[in-house]
Amino acid sequence: MRKSRAFLAFLLAFLSINGISHASDTIPLSCANKTNYTIRISNVIKGCEKTELSLGAGAISHSLIRPSVVDKQLMNRFKAAQAAAKKDGQALYIASGFRTLSRQKTLFAQAVRKYGSAQEASKWVAPPLVSHHPWGVVIDVNYPDEPVGAGWLEINGSKFGLCRVFENEWWHFEPVIAPGWKCPALVPDATFSVD
Ligand SMILES: [Zn+2]
Repeated sequence: MRKSRAFLAFLLAFLSINGISHASDTIPLSCANKTNYTIRISNVIKGCEKTELSLGAGAISHSLIRPSVVDKQLMNRFKAAQAAAKKDGQALYIASGFRTLSRQKTLFAQAVRKYGSAQEASKWVAPPLVSHHPWGVVIDVNYPDEPVGAGWLEINGSKFGLCRVFENEWWHFEPVIAPGWKCPALVPDATFSVD
């Protein structure tokens, strides 16, 4: 009895290990050609070619250490989206991406003065420790002058893993999905985002 249980445990472990290794070569990874930004689907085991930029295989979460630039895969996603937008006659540019904590503090303080309270200000500028900008995992696109281009990105961004997040900010995009997945529903404003 004990022996057969041990065998069963072994069998289950073997199957689950096998299952995991089998699964990982079927997790799709999006790669964009460095010259024409054509997207090819590889998988996380094979990776992307040297001639390609990785757009990642899932939502891009921030690192544990504060960065000093926009996340590299997020930039790759933006470049691929920018190239596709250009083909459709739309220009995309990053108005604001990475911000230092002190920059975010200044912006928040300005918003508190403008809106009268921290609570009201947080709907428009996230407090420094809450904002995703100092983590390098957000881009503000075409702000404030080109909402049409940002509208293009809102419609087409999911192909590149870029989603508009807030109802009150047409310019704010985050890499919250894998390229090709569906963007989640918008939340009203930054006070509804959970880090
Ligand atoms: Zn933003």
